[in-house]
Amino acid sequence: MDIQESWQPILILGGEGGSVTILGKNIGNTEWVFKKRTNEVFSFKEMDNDQNIEDRGTRQIKKVIKVKPSIKQTMEGTNWEDAITMIEEFPLEQLSPKNVHPFFNKRIWDIVSKRSLSKYKLKRWAKACFPTITDEIFELYEALYASIHTVVLTGAGMSVESGIPDFRSKSGWWKNIDPLTVATVEALEENYDLFHEFYTVRLKTLGGCKPHEGHHILGKWEKKGLVHEIATQNVDGFHTMASSSQVDQLHGSIRTFRCHQCGSEASLDQFINKESCSLCNGKLRPNVVLFGEMLPEQAWNNALNHMQRANLVIVIGTSLKVYPVSQLPQMTNGKTIYINKEVNDLHSFFDLTIEGSAKETLSSVDQLIR
Ligand code: NAD
Repeated sequence: MDIQESWQPILILGGEGGSVTILGKNIGNTEWVFKKRTNEVFSFKEMDNDQNIEDRGTRQIKKVIKVKPSIKQTMEGTNWEDAITMIEEFPLEQLSPKNVHPFFNKRIWDIVSKRSLSKYKLKRWAKACFPTITDEIFELYEALYASIHTVVLTGAGMSVESGIPDFRSKSGWWKNIDPLTVATVEALEENYDLFHEFYTVRLKTLGGCKPHEGHHILGKWEKKGLVHEIATQNVDGFHTMASSSQVDQLHGSIRTFRCHQCGSEASLDQFINKESCSLCNGKLRPNVVLFGEMLPEQAWNNALNHMQRANLVIVIGTSLKVYPVSQLPQMTNGKTIYINKEVNDLHSFFDLTIEGSAKETLSSVDQLIR
């Protein structure tokens, strides 16, 4: 086999007067060798020569370096640093990316995104490294890094990709009953059988579901200092399960229970078995906020406080039809971004709207996060 055939372009850069390519070849398992090829006339610093030079030929193997195949793996113990040096020697401000090998895209983006490139140049790099990145996704990425205090507000749409249906996308809802008429104080007090059945079905659904990648990404962004607070209308507890620690559950939790009458704690089993309160014989219920009830004061005040401090508010998967949470995005002077599977004119008061699912949108932005 002609050995040259297996060289693949890892990075092709173009500029006035020519192009420069880093080629790589997998020589087995996790080992790659690299070489650099410059075409046409270039007048920038070459890695082995501090002089400005003209090079019309092909530069051959400079380094033999090893990298591990998964971009998630650390570079420790490899010589990827040598390849980084090779790339960093290029005047990236003057050159445009023509092609980035998908196996090396994250590593190359990590190098490039640390350089102080113009927004225009950086966006070109983002799109070269990750061809599915849209202008909106790039704008969200930039807003995240520009913000000092970022709040995420989530609704039922955040958990739909975990398998938990929301309330307003009506397709296939349980017994064709509008959940908004069952999750009420009236239903609890006057139609307990229906109320109990509704929450039993919801608890069973919850049992088979877990947080998805989008929840985990928000947890990771908190650790990176990119997200400072999650205010959620969801009662499923998925943000906390996905390692977010600054979470205010504005509509309570479906995972704990109490007596509706005297407030004493109850267990899941007591609720599922439809027992009455052992102290006062009252009806047992989950610790969710029902339509017609006040929000937990501390959670609300905390969320409001964060909103007022926020430079950036990202609203994900909520119809913003439930008061008073619907008012929260208007309490900030910061930039507002709305992510939803369905976006319409009503959302035009947001600075940016992104039509897409929660998981896909967050995963798309996360590709760019260093
Ligand atoms: P909603 O049902 O009124 O609206 C859901 C929104 O999410 C809609 O705008 C829909 O277009 C959008 N959506 C659906 N799938 C999506 C996806 N994959 N990605 C992005 N967006 C998506 O929900 P709400 O605004 O949160 O208000 C309803 C109430 O329902 C809240 O009080 C909440 O407590 C409760 N609820 C909670 C859960 C949960 O805890 N997971 C589930 C259902 C309802």
